[in-house]
Amino acid sequence: MPQKFDVLVIGGGAAGLLCAIEAGKRGRRVAVLEHADRIGKKILISGGGRCNFTNIHCQPQDFLSANPHFTKSALARYTPADFLALVQKLRIPYHEKTLGQLFCDNSASDITNMLEAECRAAKAKIILNAKITEVSRDTQFAVRCDSAEYRAPALVVATGGLSIPKMGATSFGYDLARQFGLKIVPPRPGLVPLVLSPPDRKRYSGLAGVSTDVIAQAAHTPFREKMLFTHRGLSGPAILQVSSYWREGEPIQIDLAPDRDATAPMRQASARNQAAAETAFQQFLPKRLAETWLHHNAPSSWTNPSLAALEKHAHAWSLTPSGTEGFDKAEVTVGGVDTNELSSKTMESRKVPGLFFIGEVVDVTGHLGGFNFQWAWASGASAGRAV
Ligand SMILES: Cc1cc2nc3c(=O)[nH]c(=O)nc-3n(C[C@H](O)[C@H](O)[C@H](O)COP(=O)(O)OP(=O)(O)OC[C@H]3O[C@@H](n4cnc5c(N)ncnc54)[C@H](O)[C@@H]3O)c2cc1C
Repeated sequence: MPQKFDVLVIGGGAAGLLCAIEAGKRGRRVAVLEHADRIGKKILISGGGRCNFTNIHCQPQDFLSANPHFTKSALARYTPADFLALVQKLRIPYHEKTLGQLFCDNSASDITNMLEAECRAAKAKIILNAKITEVSRDTQFAVRCDSAEYRAPALVVATGGLSIPKMGATSFGYDLARQFGLKIVPPRPGLVPLVLSPPDRKRYSGLAGVSTDVIAQAAHTPFREKMLFTHRGLSGPAILQVSSYWREGEPIQIDLAPDRDATAPMRQASARNQAAAETAFQQFLPKRLAETWLHHNAPSSWTNPSLAALEKHAHAWSLTPSGTEGFDKAEVTVGGVDTNELSSKTMESRKVPGLFFIGEVVDVTGHLGGFNFQWAWASGASAGRAV
């Protein structure tokens, strides 16, 4: 006999759990079907184990999507203050780290425990180890698992993106969207380290571990944060941010000397040579980076026009990465269920009434800094209030 509910939520991550809480609070009989042996595995590893659960400065501009207006309604109806009210109600200690990013003081498990407790209070049932074999729709949605069948008039897909397959990420949500005739914006890794081309790797891999403050940009979108050299390429917040905008074959630009006149000390110096340049660049770059970068980017001479060219180069160092570190290392998936297919107020499919998509499976990707969770909470709440 199938078990009957008002709402079935597939995926017990950030978006699915918030949706279940909101729907349960409205008296809906909700079941969350999670294929893993516990809920919120990604929440547990997020923010270095302390979960950067929101950003108090969250704005629609902090998200990438083919439709930049899509996030507005959901973000306005469920704000960082709404999620913070939950955190404060449960007396979870937290702090602002930087740039409005809120982290747990203790552990990300405070957040999963809170979500689990709120699900219980809202009488939303969580079913773990649910291996779904088939989803169909007649008058209702039917979800078949190995040993049970569940039916409901509303089905919410909250299965996340493709990043970190070893944490349980699957293409299930995209496959289901296709099954019901919805379009997908091709998924690609976002917030991911970039791999340098073989010649650049040879030049710069010796700098692995060195980091510096830069303005990095791709597709005319700049981010001023730290950049870190790795054995294979570049990482650090500035690079993770631009990686979401970067397209295969395109260059990224790096300003190594934000707000500085890098060559000023040289123009005044009596000696103009490589050593003087290294001394000047060490005022704003770590020593090894200053030496290595100048070694590979030395001007042809030390005349005023050459120094001007060097200055320009230091502010717009252009590199063409050969790729990214892929979904194994990506924090998020860019792309997903096409927002044109969904109502921005409820996340319901325009074509298939009763079918909802929320969280990372949708073509909405936040910048680094708590925005991806805020999207998960906000889109989850939108659907939870509509189902
Ligand atoms: C290492 C790392 C650190 C991060 N840190 C932060 C951070 O600090 N702040 C921030 O804002 N964002 C962070 N993110 C991004 C954030 O974790 C995601 O954007 C967010 O979890 C998306 O929520 P979601 O509910 O849509 O998907 P998920 O949280 O991925 O949840 C999807 C759920 O669906 C389940 N599922 C998948 N397929 C099936 C299936 N076929 N059947 C049943 N269940 C299924 C999964 O097991 C999972 O529980 C981080 C991501 C990573 C990888």
